[in-house]
Amino acid sequence: MNTEQSEQLFAQSLKKIPGGVNSPVRAFRAVGRNPLFIKNAKGCQITDVDGNSYIDYVCSWGPGILGHAHPAVTEAAVRACREGMTFGAPTEKELILAEMLCEAVPSMDKVRLVNSGTEAVMSAVRAARGYTGRDYIIKFQGNYHGHSDGLLVRAGSGALTTAAPDSSGVPEGIIKYTLVADYNREESVKELMEQYEGKIAAVLVEPVAANMGVVPPEDGFLPFLRSITEQYGAVLIFDEVITGFRLGYGGAQEYFGVTPDMTVLGKIIGGGMPLAAYGGKKEIMDLVSPAGSVYQAGTLSGNPVATAAGIETLKQLKAHPEYYQQIGEAAEKIAETLRQTAKEKKYPLWVNQIGSLLCAFHTENPVRDFESAFRSDTKAYARYFNRMLEGGVYLAPSQFEAMFVSVAHTPEIVEQTCQVIRELKEECFTNA
Ligand SMILES: *Cc1c(COP(=O)(O)O)cnc(C)c1O
Repeated sequence: MNTEQSEQLFAQSLKKIPGGVNSPVRAFRAVGRNPLFIKNAKGCQITDVDGNSYIDYVCSWGPGILGHAHPAVTEAAVRACREGMTFGAPTEKELILAEMLCEAVPSMDKVRLVNSGTEAVMSAVRAARGYTGRDYIIKFQGNYHGHSDGLLVRAGSGALTTAAPDSSGVPEGIIKYTLVADYNREESVKELMEQYEGKIAAVLVEPVAANMGVVPPEDGFLPFLRSITEQYGAVLIFDEVITGFRLGYGGAQEYFGVTPDMTVLGKIIGGGMPLAAYGGKKEIMDLVSPAGSVYQAGTLSGNPVATAAGIETLKQLKAHPEYYQQIGEAAEKIAETLRQTAKEKKYPLWVNQIGSLLCAFHTENPVRDFESAFRSDTKAYARYFNRMLEGGVYLAPSQFEAMFVSVAHTPEIVEQTCQVIRELKEECFTNA
């Protein structure tokens, strides 16, 4: 595998961009190599600057549910570009997208469009605090909610494999309002709720944890969060930046039948453009400026190009409900092949899969919370990652990320992927 051009671009990037990348998860440090620079992509294939093509299971970390350069989405974005890229004034597209989001997501009476998941979560938390008049929030260990100060506490994703688990530069005075509970552990939430009675503004959760690998909620966990937040008068916020429009058109809340008070969306809803959203109950969202006293603004929010790509993406998903079954089955086949291969060869591996999200944890123990996820052998993951890459399969360069399946992953492509898995050798699994 020749990666000369990528190596050269990375060496130059290191001189001008911190760590050579614009988001830490793009670095390949955790898998012991330098990142590949991508030239272009089509469907499920991405091609690097040296001309190597791979089957892509990162899908831009979630947005690419329809595959890269989807013709209708691309066309919608290009058309919008020609009509002017930003006006700083309202457009009909914002209304259309807002209506689509509110129609699809059970908890959304009203919605505000923003530019990134980070911004959306940060704003949702502010609205919840404004609504309750309380300061504390509860989040879960290993759940990631973007990089705003107050949420970089026991975060997942890139923060799990970088040198510092959290971040310097975050004042203690801000962090003190962020309480951390254990995902899938009801008792840990109960204790905090009792201890801080009357002070908790919100409980913020990834309904399926997908930034510590993939860890689905156990039976009863989400209904428990629903009832305890009601009991203590706290706002329940689902961070559906990954699960929204991925587990189904109505996201995790539709899939599990649990309706939060507020929901955060991102990734898929921008169709590959920077776009995110937060919304929920009318009485909470009516507090957001200029309707109410919770300030939040954005020069490029509801950008016409981004909304055009988002609307077209949602239209495609809505017109093809069968897509969800298709990508779910594809993910299931990959998960089964990983399990079978590991079992036949007596390699330690635990695979979680739900819908089109999956993760192969390099451990033999069941992974049901942060602690068990964290027991994975990251060195074995690095060897597995490199072997898959050499076999033409591009995975996330970290144990603690999801594998994303898109509509463009046809049964033939999935079978090709499974063949690479079946040929994996012992060194990809054991602690050598
Ligand atoms: C990606 C992600 C975010 C942050 O979104 P950005 O657009 O990267 O700021 C927030 N929450 C979850 C669950 C995510 O996966």
